[in-house]
Amino acid sequence: MNTETGPAMMTSNPTRDAESLERHFKPRLQQLLRALGVDVAYERGQGNHLYHRDDQGREIEVLDLVGGYGSLLLGHAHPALVAEAQRLLATGRPVHAQGSRREYAARLACELSRRASGDYCVLFGNSGTEGIEAAMKHALLETGGRAFIALDGAFHGKTLGALQLTAHPDYRESFELPEPGVVRVAPDSIEDLEAAFERVKHPAGFVFEPILGEGGVRPLNPEFVQRAARLCAEHRIPLIADECQTGLGRTGRFLACDALGVRPDYVVLSKALGGGLAKISAVLIRRERYVDTFDLRHTSTFAEDDFSCALALKTLELIDEPLIASCEKNGGELMAGLRGLAARHPEVIAGVRGRGLMIGLEFRRMTSSRSFLLRFLTAQEDLVWMVMGYLLNVHRIRAAPTLSDRFTLRLEPSALIGDREIQQTLAALEDVCARLGRGDAPGLTAFLPPGGSSPTASGNRLARPDARFAAHDEPGYRRRRLTTPAVAASWLCHLVDSEDLASLEPGFVDQPADRREALLEHLATRVAPVAMNPVDIRSITGARVRFQPILIPFTSRWVKQCIDARQTSLPRALVQKGVDLARSLDCRIVSLAQYTSIVTFNGLRLDARGLGVTSGNSYSVALAAQAVEHAQRDTGISPRESVLVVVGAAGNIGRACAELLAPHHRRTLLVGSTRPGSRLRLRELARRIPRASLTTDLDAVAEGDVVMVALNAVDAPLSERHFKPGAIVCDVSVPSALQAGMAKSRPDLRLFHGGIAALPGGEDLGLAGFPLPRGQVYGCMAEALLLAFEGVRDSHFTGSVTTEHVSRVTAMALRHGFTSASAGRAFTHIGPDMAPPTPFADMPCFVPDIEAREETHAIAY
Ligand code: PMP
Repeated sequence: MNTETGPAMMTSNPTRDAESLERHFKPRLQQLLRALGVDVAYERGQGNHLYHRDDQGREIEVLDLVGGYGSLLLGHAHPALVAEAQRLLATGRPVHAQGSRREYAARLACELSRRASGDYCVLFGNSGTEGIEAAMKHALLETGGRAFIALDGAFHGKTLGALQLTAHPDYRESFELPEPGVVRVAPDSIEDLEAAFERVKHPAGFVFEPILGEGGVRPLNPEFVQRAARLCAEHRIPLIADECQTGLGRTGRFLACDALGVRPDYVVLSKALGGGLAKISAVLIRRERYVDTFDLRHTSTFAEDDFSCALALKTLELIDEPLIASCEKNGGELMAGLRGLAARHPEVIAGVRGRGLMIGLEFRRMTSSRSFLLRFLTAQEDLVWMVMGYLLNVHRIRAAPTLSDRFTLRLEPSALIGDREIQQTLAALEDVCARLGRGDAPGLTAFLPPGGSSPTASGNRLARPDARFAAHDEPGYRRRRLTTPAVAASWLCHLVDSEDLASLEPGFVDQPADRREALLEHLATRVAPVAMNPVDIRSITGARVRFQPILIPFTSRWVKQCIDARQTSLPRALVQKGVDLARSLDCRIVSLAQYTSIVTFNGLRLDARGLGVTSGNSYSVALAAQAVEHAQRDTGISPRESVLVVVGAAGNIGRACAELLAPHHRRTLLVGSTRPGSRLRLRELARRIPRASLTTDLDAVAEGDVVMVALNAVDAPLSERHFKPGAIVCDVSVPSALQAGMAKSRPDLRLFHGGIAALPGGEDLGLAGFPLPRGQVYGCMAEALLLAFEGVRDSHFTGSVTTEHVSRVTAMALRHGFTSASAGRAFTHIGPDMAPPTPFADMPCFVPDIEAREETHAIAY
């Protein structure tokens, strides 16, 4: 039972508390943990388990396989170590007495030297990375060398010096130093190794992990390490083994190097050395190499403290031969079970690696899964993070990916793991594999949001996302790129509502809309733009353009919430990522759809970075105006006798439509929202155009003979009661601002979608979630195509739509044979007669480096 009485751990409002704590502590990481459903506050640890409380205050037991990144070889709160810690505190043993004879430190040094079967001088530090720093400094001093030879995929810590040896560019970027130099070698490539030793003029040491831990748990070949040892001897430089994670028995030997047939000159130990209670590292340096002036030159306030050294001594006592043997035995059993799993699920598991209780389970990249979400998570390298969330929430098991290889799940249990826990682990992973194998994204995400709570409560969910999403080479995608024309136009869209999730992922069809919306909102901070299937589009001139839709998987509702909260930096950053993705796909022009235009101020707030950008609004306006004119001609209703109502007239499209149509109408009523900015814009507009008045009352819509609807509402605010009998109603809003079923309940109305164009070649875009009949596209899509046909590569068509913009795109449409889809047919009723969405079952997921731009069917805010 937890009887926590620590510093201000409990307050009356845990939600608010969590939010304010998050403001000051790693907000981005907290956001990630929450998105994955793993932001659990553990209260207690014992043996193999951690404990937290659920919403009802019940204690939940979790099997911990993260194992403190390898520190918990003896489990949480080992009783003998807790007793030793209590003894030390009770007897008043000083923790710090620098500049005195440090008895525990000296005894620990002797013991480590003995257990490592060598004759070593030992230095202490507080963390693994500090141990590596000390080793590097000593090697530089000892050899006079200037560069280290290290391995691809290596992880040696993140302080500035050690970080130079760590391989993953994400960690090194912005922190690279000119010296010491680091030459990297592919693990197990003797050829590479020999070449490196030849190339480096002044080597200071060869640094390696016997099993690359954070690099995906990859054991090295003994021959490779032995060759490295011989080369080090020839060059008189130290062979430096980083055994922070592998050392102290975890792999079935006291040092993992013992199994490789080498005796390192330096050994760095940490993690398990503190017994899970103390923070300590040690660098063992062969006595004959030790430079004794280093004693005075390298110091650290907290190193050598009695408390940590005494606990480490006790830990070494507990890591006896039987315990080391049990690591080998238990690890062998777990590994055998995992190999069976891999054999049953070869489409899911790419490999099982490791030794003893240091095990990595590598998942395959789900690039051809039937599930869109799994392909998407793969492209973002979030797949195994999602597995982590699932394991914790569904199976009460904690296991995380390794730091530098995000497709490998780390399994580092304590030496105390027993058969029951091994079976629990295997059963849970069997379930994960079965679900991944059949593309069961709904099942794998059913736990999100955990406890059904929406993440919208958090103050930090809009923090800027990481700018980098790893590119993934998808062969099918590349093939398609090569067969399509060189000139490409991109179109940035997002999910209109959670129905679209069901189109993308048919498994979600049976789930209630609010459940889907909650999931999408929950994942909003982890989304990235996705390239969809490109399609070739023809002009009547014979020219062809590749149309490249890019989907940003957030919903209109979510962006609307961001706008209302005046927190548009995240949606805007995602749109910028879409622009950058378009550029990386060799597009020349990018057009913005729906809210991608709105949050970027019709494209003005984007960095085009060499691309042409268009809001896509100009042609939408032209098409809507044409459709209205056509409807008036068709019904014989003269504009001169009609009242025009423009709903959403403060927005970019509504305003331009009003400017274009008002001169031909008896009078014009401009309808806008009560927001101050909107009112101001309406007033200015009413002054500019003839016979115009303004209102914020939706009921006034009933005055209109012709109603142009250009709203950015997500809740369909207009219903059948809002319209005059027989009115012409042109809706350019996406999602539609009209309540469903109006085509049936008000058959007297001439209802149609405006802003839709017919392609001259009648190509089918097959876009799920966009209910467009074959051969029809939104104005914003058509505008991207028209500008691409015309070779436009600037951002002239961003910002406010002007009559000059409208007439220029109208002329382009004429040249290329694009027409108004609504005008060409009697009326396209809004409703089920629109084409059903085509599921994107085979849509590739390609989430490369960076960001995107705009277009809108709705009104600016
Ligand atoms: N070396 C290795 C092999 C490691 O695995 C780690 C930590 N994962 C470190 C060094 C760095 O240790 P620390 O995080 O304590 O600085």
